[in-house]
Amino acid sequence: MLVEIAMREADDLSDPRFHGDLMLTRGGAYAADGQVSAALADFQKAHQSFVEAQDQRGQAVALVRLASLYREGGDFAGSLRYYRQAEEAFQSDPGLLLSIYNGRGNVLNEMNRFPEASAAFIKALQYAPRDEAAVRVRILANLARAQLNARRVDAAADTVAAGMRLAEGAEAKEIRSQIYSVAARVQLERGNLSAARTLIERSFDGIPPTETTLAMRDNHLVAARIYQRSGESEKAVEHLLALRRLDEQALSVATSAKAALMGARFDFQNQELRIARLKAEELRRNVEFERSRTRFQQILFGGIAAAVAILIGLLTFGLVTIRRSRNEVRAVNVDLGIANTSLEKALAAKTEFLATTSHEIRTPLNGILGMTQVMLADSALEPATRERVDIVHAAGMRMRGMVDDILDVAKMENGHFTIDTTIVDLPATLQEATRLWEEQAQGRGIAFSLECADVPQWIESDPTRLRQIVFNLLSNALKFTHAGSIGVRAAAVGEGDRRRLQIVVHDTGIGIPADKHAQIFESFRQVDAGTTRQYGGTGLGLTICRNLAVALGGTIQVESVEGEGSTFTVDLPLVEAPAPVMVDAGQGEAAGMLVLDRNPIVRGMMRTLFAPHVLDLRFAASLEEALDELARGGIARVLIDEAALAAGTDDPKLRVEPIASAACAAGATTAILWPNLDEATRAALKAAGLDQVIGKPVSGARLVEALFTTKRGNPADSPLVSRAA
Ligand code: ADP
Repeated sequence: MLVEIAMREADDLSDPRFHGDLMLTRGGAYAADGQVSAALADFQKAHQSFVEAQDQRGQAVALVRLASLYREGGDFAGSLRYYRQAEEAFQSDPGLLLSIYNGRGNVLNEMNRFPEASAAFIKALQYAPRDEAAVRVRILANLARAQLNARRVDAAADTVAAGMRLAEGAEAKEIRSQIYSVAARVQLERGNLSAARTLIERSFDGIPPTETTLAMRDNHLVAARIYQRSGESEKAVEHLLALRRLDEQALSVATSAKAALMGARFDFQNQELRIARLKAEELRRNVEFERSRTRFQQILFGGIAAAVAILIGLLTFGLVTIRRSRNEVRAVNVDLGIANTSLEKALAAKTEFLATTSHEIRTPLNGILGMTQVMLADSALEPATRERVDIVHAAGMRMRGMVDDILDVAKMENGHFTIDTTIVDLPATLQEATRLWEEQAQGRGIAFSLECADVPQWIESDPTRLRQIVFNLLSNALKFTHAGSIGVRAAAVGEGDRRRLQIVVHDTGIGIPADKHAQIFESFRQVDAGTTRQYGGTGLGLTICRNLAVALGGTIQVESVEGEGSTFTVDLPLVEAPAPVMVDAGQGEAAGMLVLDRNPIVRGMMRTLFAPHVLDLRFAASLEEALDELARGGIARVLIDEAALAAGTDDPKLRVEPIASAACAAGATTAILWPNLDEATRAALKAAGLDQVIGKPVSGARLVEALFTTKRGNPADSPLVSRAA
């Protein structure tokens, strides 16, 4: 009860050492009461508490208690183990060491390991205090018993003698009882029956055999043997019965202790089993974990490997596909290249063909035209024949126009095409380009207008190209307009660098369907076949216009409503130029210059080229017109184009004669433009009285230079393409 109260307080205090002491006390109480299991549990708790408190002495005490419990339970090996642990745990307390070695001796004795038991008791004696007679007597009795068991009767006799001496002064009866019992046994071993009898009777010291305790078990055993030997059977039986009582008592204690120990051990084993199972479980889990980790790794690596494989596959596929498509593209490109080359060759061949054929046609055509011109110049010609020849001449002229167009396009496509920028009198150029068409329009009752007041007079451009564009657009306008009006309007739009020149040619003609607007600018394309039948043409005019506009850095666009009319807008860069200084290159009082050229475009071009240099610039389309102009007077110089001369003969001298002599008579100098000039022709022309012979083709700039600079070179060598048609 007291222990329980202390327990509660100990719990409150929660001091492990105090708790350990309490457990030892309670365990001791349980052990004394025969409650081995409870005692065992308490001793174990006590040991645990002392471990917590790091109290080694306490731990050793608990271990000694456990060892004695195991000894009672008959588990001698376990008991020895605890004693050894107790000995290792704490060695500084002699009292504790005494009980450890005494205990060990008892266990070893019961294990029939008598010499070891004797050694243990001798060690115990070393730690037994000299003044503690009772303790020393008990140990000596134990030693003597071990010696007797080991058949060392003399040694036992000595030990007993020592014990007997100490016991004389001892107070406790039980102590004396023990040593007397062993002494009796020594006498019995030695055959001194009576001495043995006396000693054993003294050991009981008047305690009846029926009331002895377990501590006197050995006494009963010795007494029974002595009485058997002495023939006192009754007494022997009496002690044998007492022995059986005590053995039964010991057995029950041992059994309960053993049962408790067994239980503890069973629990321990269970515990071990559980631990083993847990370990196995843990191991299994570890194995499982390792396995799953391995599996995961396998899956991971497998996945990665698969992904890599797929990636490689895809890359390979991609590469193969790319390579294949690249090869295909390459093959297609090669095919395309071949096709392009063949196409280019075909186009070049076509252009070449057109150029050569046109040129070839042009030469005999010039012959025909020259002859018709000669015939028409004959005043004796009958009117009916004149009319027919006139038709042939007109048809020939149209034909030459076409051939010229073809030649132009061929040149553009061959790249033999340049732009000659010079200072241009824009209003004059436009007037020149429109004059012919204005006359035609008026003749057909179609209103004609030219608006160019808003544009600067002098600009930088190529006058020939400008004129060609306007000329072609007006040619179409007149061709496709039956009534209404035709107008040309030039205007400057925009500001600064973005200033543009817009030339708009408008008509109220048949118009062009919207879906044909793009197509009409392609070469040889017309709105439909009916156009050719009704209006003729080659389908090259707008192609030339577009190429020229682009070459001048501009564009051409069409707006048209079928049946209402068309508007062509040419948009070009506008670069204003300062007015040129007029230079009168004429001689004497005469300042005029006459140009004989049958081609109106070329005439327009020349007007633009020469206007800055000549105050009185006149033009003639035929020999007759030229002779008329010379007759009017005021002409200081004449420029003759070979194409304007009669083509009746191949002799250059004969061909130039009429105009050369007329010019000479008028006192004008002469210059002639001659195609494919060779030295013989040049000499012949010079011999015919011409002052200057210029080979064609020649650029406008070189022509101006040749005509208007004092140092006269020979521009016939110029490689530049002629602007003349
Ligand atoms: P061509 O006039 O020699 O046939 P073009 O290239 O100059 O060739 O013109 C191509 C076609 O565009 C013409 O045949 C005609 O059908 C159409 N066209 C051009 N200008 C006009 C216009 N002012 N009015 C109506 N149709 C036109």
